[in-house]
Amino acid sequence: MYSFLDQDITYLKGVGQARAQLLASELDIHTVADLLHHYPFRHEDRTRIYRIDELHEGMQNIQLRGQIIDVSTVGEGPKRRLMATFTDGTGFITLIWFRSLKTISKMCQIGVTYQVFGEPKVFQHSFSIPHPEMEVMEQVQNRPLLRMQPVYHLTEKLQGRGITSKFLNQLVANAFDKIASIPETLSSDLITAHRLVSHEQAIRDIHFSQSAEAVSNARRRLKFEELFFLQLSILQYARSRQTVTEGWRFPRVAEKFNAFYSHVLPFSLTEAQKRVIREIHADLKSGHQMNRLLQGDVGSGKTIVAALVALLAIDNGFQACIMAPTEILAEQHYRGLCDQMQQIGVNVALLTGNVKGKQRRETLEGIKEGSIQILVGTHALIEPNVEFRNLGLAVIDEQHRFGVKQRAQLWTKNSRPPHILVMTATPIPRTLAMTVYGDLDVSVIDQLPPGRKPIATRHFASREYERIRQGVEMELRRGRQVYIVYPLIKENEKLDLKALEEGYEETQRRFPQWKVGMVHGKMKPAEKDAAMKAFAANETQILVSTTVIEVGVNVPNASVMIVENAERFGLAQLHQLRGRVGRGAEQSYCILVTKDQLAENTHERMQILVETNDGFRIAEADLKFRGPGDLEGTAQSGLPIQLKMASLVGDSVMMSEAREAAARIIEADPGEQLPQYRVLWTRLRQLKANQTNYSDIS
Ligand code: ADP
Ligand code: MG
Repeated sequence: MYSFLDQDITYLKGVGQARAQLLASELDIHTVADLLHHYPFRHEDRTRIYRIDELHEGMQNIQLRGQIIDVSTVGEGPKRRLMATFTDGTGFITLIWFRSLKTISKMCQIGVTYQVFGEPKVFQHSFSIPHPEMEVMEQVQNRPLLRMQPVYHLTEKLQGRGITSKFLNQLVANAFDKIASIPETLSSDLITAHRLVSHEQAIRDIHFSQSAEAVSNARRRLKFEELFFLQLSILQYARSRQTVTEGWRFPRVAEKFNAFYSHVLPFSLTEAQKRVIREIHADLKSGHQMNRLLQGDVGSGKTIVAALVALLAIDNGFQACIMAPTEILAEQHYRGLCDQMQQIGVNVALLTGNVKGKQRRETLEGIKEGSIQILVGTHALIEPNVEFRNLGLAVIDEQHRFGVKQRAQLWTKNSRPPHILVMTATPIPRTLAMTVYGDLDVSVIDQLPPGRKPIATRHFASREYERIRQGVEMELRRGRQVYIVYPLIKENEKLDLKALEEGYEETQRRFPQWKVGMVHGKMKPAEKDAAMKAFAANETQILVSTTVIEVGVNVPNASVMIVENAERFGLAQLHQLRGRVGRGAEQSYCILVTKDQLAENTHERMQILVETNDGFRIAEADLKFRGPGDLEGTAQSGLPIQLKMASLVGDSVMMSEAREAAARIIEADPGEQLPQYRVLWTRLRQLKANQTNYSDIS
């Protein structure tokens, strides 16, 4: 059925080509439905009128009612501003404008009652509101009042073009003028059991509401809906894999595996490593396709497990691939594996965005005809033009950037899906794991290789740099190497790069006898590669870098990790960085340098790293200190369905409810055929295809 909801946004009054393009590029809004699903992230109660004597510091936007008793322009040139003294009988505040002074001064009339709206700021012990919204009371009384005014996420660019929360809300109103109805997306038993408002009601109330209660009901409904479909999708996937997916059988442990084990392996495996290899091997023999998560703290030795498992595939006549999140990591894995695999006659190749021309053609050819047995690379591996002769196993390192979707792409690489082993060093709390890895079986390496001395971690203020320098100098004289990491924050790449380059020069001055290298994400791949290689070969002794070295880089001779501006990192990230040292048998050090003036919490946060090396403890503390923000981002990126309203971390109780509900539906309707649930399966298919297409369900 045709639905106005699926129409292009330009069908709405007020949206021409230019605005449509802006809405698409800035907010990913293309259709009317997209607009309706761009939910406000909070509401302002515009019925509450505050008294001036109630104002206190740190308030957000508030409304006042009163009169102007005095207006004047002060200052000259760019400092010129318009100031009005405003009172409601309980006190006085100043309204201030820095722009459009002429127009506004005409508007300000003494003795007229105004309603003003804005954020009160304290300046020289009294309150002022810069650039308030101001309306004459009579007007206010004549217009229909929307009590709960929605505030939408907007970009600066949009605001610069006059697309404000008010404007968006008006567009939504225009849309509702033309929409007959919005179809329901949940089955009626779910709506009743969970006491939800209808989908249409929720969408209306989230945009136009007269009461806080209605907004809260709308939010609850929309959150539940998202979490329910997320869980339904995960459980559906998990079930389909248990029942339908046949896997390749790897019964043999033969020549290559044994040769590697007895001739190449430079150490004996830890008990934990042996155990997880047995767990994995049991999967590979079972006849079911494996989907397993291998968790192990940094340095626990996951790479060698991946190598041995790859050999199990090869011994059974299959190819294996190993996928890493960055080029640096892929290249490092490749180099490590090449050395080892050459000794037993196994052919390894590398495929990343950097591999071009003839080399790329040859690699693709070798994969297709089967002369390449292990392919290492970035996500370039899953591109459609990479054809394997007989892919049996895919290892995905440092997983959280690969989601269910990407894994599903791997499935198409052979007539039966390959076995999949996902490796991660990021411990995440249980409730989250259930969702983010809800479709995976889990193995854990809970033991570090023997002989490791725990890394000694110290926290210094930057004024103590001379002490740091002396300690580092001693390590360098012992022949060891040093990382110095600077934070790189996306929003301001230029400034960060400058800080890094200054840091590089500073380091050269501080350690004149030693060679210093530098890597950062903006370098050309070849330069980056050269810098990493030089450090790995001890041609440079100090490597100044951004967090590009965060995941997985392995230079055992490096014994010192210095993190500059450590207060700007999360604890889990610092723990990852710290894991870059302590890879040899000798004592290693992690030095956290923070500003002299510490913000609240910083000392406490650093102290956790000083005190413990336990990744799980650190992850939990991180969550407590920083809130869900970051974790949310990384975890979300792997989900089959994006959450707009619900929070993975904040809504864990509702998540459990949604999971139970989804499990009941899957059990009640395993064939996906019951008429009362057709609406659910249809909606799920659309969401998975990332469409908000209503016409199929109406
Ligand atoms: P991660 O789990 O962080 O990926 P790696 O696989 O990079 O850790 O291993 C870290 C270091 O420990 C490497 O230098 C590796 O060679 C070494 N290693 C791994 N397993 C063992 C072991 N059983 N005994 C001694 N060293 C080991
Ligand atoms: Mg690793």
